[in-house]
Amino acid sequence: MISVKNLQKSFGKLEILKGIDIEIGKGEVVVVIGPSGSGKSTFLRCLNLLEQPTGGEILFEGELITAPKHNINATREKMGMVFQHFNLFPHKTVMENLTIAPIQVRGMNKRDAEKIAEELLATVGLSDKRDAYPSQLSGGQKQRIAIARALAMQPHVMLFDEPTSALDPEMVGEVLDVMKKLAEGGMTMVIVTHEMGFAREVGDRIIFVDNGKIIEQGTPDQVFGNPSHARTKDFLAKVL
Ligand code: ADP
Ligand code: MG
Repeated sequence: MISVKNLQKSFGKLEILKGIDIEIGKGEVVVVIGPSGSGKSTFLRCLNLLEQPTGGEILFEGELITAPKHNINATREKMGMVFQHFNLFPHKTVMENLTIAPIQVRGMNKRDAEKIAEELLATVGLSDKRDAYPSQLSGGQKQRIAIARALAMQPHVMLFDEPTSALDPEMVGEVLDVMKKLAEGGMTMVIVTHEMGFAREVGDRIIFVDNGKIIEQGTPDQVFGNPSHARTKDFLAKVL
């Protein structure tokens, strides 16, 4: 589904991604781990072209999305993204948050958009919050709405950038449960997280990134149980 070849990203003279190669299959759940500042967010943001790569190429569903003439908006619609901070529209209700993009970007009629939104609210366990405003929700509820909002565009892949890092500990589980359900439903997912238990349980593949490069990758058992690089071992010793 996604093929990344020698992906590079610099900010001015600062080289952040130093040649990332990865293939991501349909339905695969890839978990990206690594130290703070290693380029994980930059990598995700390059995948959906929130950042313009400075080198290499990205193919998405067979299309070279890094080509100069490529329609970025069409690609972004197919890639849902969930951030650490939820970025819900504060002056819109939950239902409006979920339907605004399908109606305005997709041209969907309101009734169809609301029907999809209601199904998604059920999926994330928040049907009773359809008329609430974001300020009336807990952090965990906001993040579940943010996930539903991304899903409302019916993306082909979901990108998560530390979706639970800003949450109080007691709310982490409810968000991870929604993500687990998505994974079990066959969604293709790329997830940056520090939740190692979740990574081990839900990830098909673990990618360890350090200093702008993939240092090691493998199944959760390989990477967590028997890491082959010293840097992976050091990192895991600090976080596990
Ligand atoms: P991670 O998500 O692994 O913590 P990031 O991808 O956020 O790492 O950042 C990697 C490095 O890139 C950091 O040193 C950060 O300061 C730098 N960086 C990220 N975005 C920008 C930007 N827009 N301009 C300049 N430097 C940036
Ligand atoms: Mg980050």
